[in-house]
Amino acid sequence: MKVQKLQPVKGTKDILLDESELFLHVVNIAREAAKIYGYHEAYLPIFEFTEVFKRTLGETSDVVNKEMYTFEDKGGRSLTLRPEFTAGIVRSLISNNLWDKFPLKLFSAGPVFRYENPQKGRYRQFNQINLENIGTRSPMIDAEMVALAKEILDRLELPNITLELNSLGDIDSRKKYSTALVNYLTKYKKDLSEDSQTRLIKNPLRILDSKNISDQKILEEAPALKNYLTKDSLKFFEELLVHLDALGIKYFINDKIVRGLDYYTDTVFEFVTKELGTQGAVIAGGRYDGLFKIMGGIDTPAVGFAGGIERLMALYKGKVETRKPVTLLVLDRKFTMNGLELAQKLRKENIQTVIDESKDVGKSLKKALGNNSKFIIFLGEDEVSQGKVKLKNLDTREEKLMSESQLIGELK
Ligand code: ATP
Ligand code: MG
Repeated sequence: MKVQKLQPVKGTKDILLDESELFLHVVNIAREAAKIYGYHEAYLPIFEFTEVFKRTLGETSDVVNKEMYTFEDKGGRSLTLRPEFTAGIVRSLISNNLWDKFPLKLFSAGPVFRYENPQKGRYRQFNQINLENIGTRSPMIDAEMVALAKEILDRLELPNITLELNSLGDIDSRKKYSTALVNYLTKYKKDLSEDSQTRLIKNPLRILDSKNISDQKILEEAPALKNYLTKDSLKFFEELLVHLDALGIKYFINDKIVRGLDYYTDTVFEFVTKELGTQGAVIAGGRYDGLFKIMGGIDTPAVGFAGGIERLMALYKGKVETRKPVTLLVLDRKFTMNGLELAQKLRKENIQTVIDESKDVGKSLKKALGNNSKFIIFLGEDEVSQGKVKLKNLDTREEKLMSESQLIGELK
């Protein structure tokens, strides 16, 4: 029987070597920026009870309807791999009773899972950075949230990204608007795309961001969400804009942004680019003042955003610093202990060291160049008998015999 080559699961992506260096670079930049804004890092479970997502994301959202990885564990519990971070974070704050810790700012990074149609920039397991500011309702905090997202993009020096903003108002105004929208769209029902016809019943607001041309034409005359905002929501949004202006952050108001998940209220925003084809959303977020209550917690306002790490990586144009270790080559089996000890000394001095053992210098040189070493240290009979090591610079080809302390001085 022929053994089949093992295949990766459709929609997954292996991140290795140079790509993993870039991955870490993106995460580290985001983590540093978050830290400067006062965030703490949270490590939460990758799966939760299915209810956690069902109740929060909304039974009618795409994520809950089509995209969740749900399974039963051996104890018969229905569990779901997280399709996003926010619901799990809110669950965690509620189950740990962290009410007296608010306001709380949390940063996380890690994998999320969605059963989507895989294509470039769209995977079934992908990674997000996720930031949440919990416990405050203020336009100042929303402005800070947007500024932090922009700070991360700026620190990564990503070009051609624009900020689009909208306000969804509070839950009541959304309900009123939804009714008005359905009344209007029902007149054109048979001309709407199939998807939109379904949404008309299940999730009418989502029709607003339909990519279908005929839908878009019909939407031109549709009632506008902003006319349904309460006074309080309108004022909140206007103040946010004033704050962004003061910070010099440019934005476009896009009244078609509704976001896919049900729990957003008031501010919603997306950082988008044309460089990634149809997978243009890089960072997306918004305010979710209603979520804590929906999940059975104390009513708590909050705002947050998530960014797709793979998409941020795809946009990155800069160089990522590559590792330049030193190779320590033990030429004779007799000296492996000396080699290990010396390697430990170098590592204590923060000199990246890889060890190798071989009589074949040519082969070892090739390996050293392959792992990007700029130096190779030889440890053989000649060197040990003199109590020294030989250091070779692989760029200049220069070789020098020296003591261990000289070696450390030279390499630092
Ligand atoms: P999209 O409109 O592309 O489906 P979304 O609105 O579903 O995005 P969010 O749920 O807001 O996305 O997730 C935040 C970010 O995660 C997105 O802005 C994007 O960068 C990234 N992202 C979302 N889905 C995927 C995916 N399937 N593969 C890779 N990255 C993704
Ligand atoms: Mg999506």
